[in-house]
Amino acid sequence: MKAESHSICSHTIDLNLLHIYEAKKRISPLVRHTPLVKSDPLSTLFDHDVFLKLEFLQDPGAFKVRGATNKILSLSPTDRKRGVVTFSTGNHGLCTCWVAKKTDTPAVVCVSKRVAKLSPKRIEFMRALGAEVVVSGDTQDEAGEMAKELVATRGLTLIHPFDDPFVIAGQGTIGLELLEDEPSISSVLVPLSGGGLISGIALAMKSASPSIKVIGVSIENAPVMYESIKAGHPIEMKEVDSIAESLLGGIGLDNRYTFEMVRDLVDEIVLVSEKEIENALSFTLENHHWLLEGAGVAGIAALLSNKASGTGKTAIILSGSNCEARSLLKQLQI
Ligand SMILES: *Cc1c(COP(=O)(O)O)cnc(C)c1O
Repeated sequence: MKAESHSICSHTIDLNLLHIYEAKKRISPLVRHTPLVKSDPLSTLFDHDVFLKLEFLQDPGAFKVRGATNKILSLSPTDRKRGVVTFSTGNHGLCTCWVAKKTDTPAVVCVSKRVAKLSPKRIEFMRALGAEVVVSGDTQDEAGEMAKELVATRGLTLIHPFDDPFVIAGQGTIGLELLEDEPSISSVLVPLSGGGLISGIALAMKSASPSIKVIGVSIENAPVMYESIKAGHPIEMKEVDSIAESLLGGIGLDNRYTFEMVRDLVDEIVLVSEKEIENALSFTLENHHWLLEGAGVAGIAALLSNKASGTGKTAIILSGSNCEARSLLKQLQI
């Protein structure tokens, strides 16, 4: 899974650094340039500078607002008036609804029965933002089928959670901010599920310097990208639960962008266990006093478990904080 640095130029996918700069300009009215702060506890523990990128400080609580904003603001006026539809394990749906409200765009969200049961507060919140919530199917993929049906029948535009060039370019703006705030970063740890976040960040950072190491962190309970790359093509896996629910879900058998981008641009993917995510949540709460969601601390989990060793200046993307606080604290026995 070594990255070929030259693959940025020869890549078959028509997505480059300029698209990320365009995204940066487009999304700036709605999206925060989040702080990059040095973590003293982690820097002391690992004897090199560890920086944390506080993406959970975006208004809707996660970085996904970047991709959603870039996609929605790129639509034609007619398409925007018809509205957008998405399917999501949570944050993408939430962020899409938030952006839709800010931009007066009608929004429909398709969620699986499982997600509806797991996250009733999120559903409530999306409805409160004015979105129409459609509960359909048992899995993420089945919710996706319903979304595609609405594209066909109602002329809505699908806002994909990760496999869309505008979404990837939007998430890539995080890479630009990292380079701006700490140009000497030598490795970055990125939570990885569908791969939109890491594809955008890798494209931005490898374009600046191919020697910057980009490491993906997935969960043992949903190593779909990891196994797909091992297999040489996108595969499907059975869904199981995780404390890092935002990292659940597949990459799609019909994956068009993120599989190739992760294969070509990402240096390494490591897998963390449920226990390691729990430890990272407790560590972050006790040392930084932030209660994040499981997915948000995947990078910290990888470092604390010595599964990833950032060398030199290391940045960790803290991707989100949307959680049911009480039940999470109970689970952590805090
Ligand atoms: C979606 C999400 C991720 C993973 O992003 P992908 O683009 O699917 O790889 C990580 N953390 C949080 C909080 C998320 O919501």
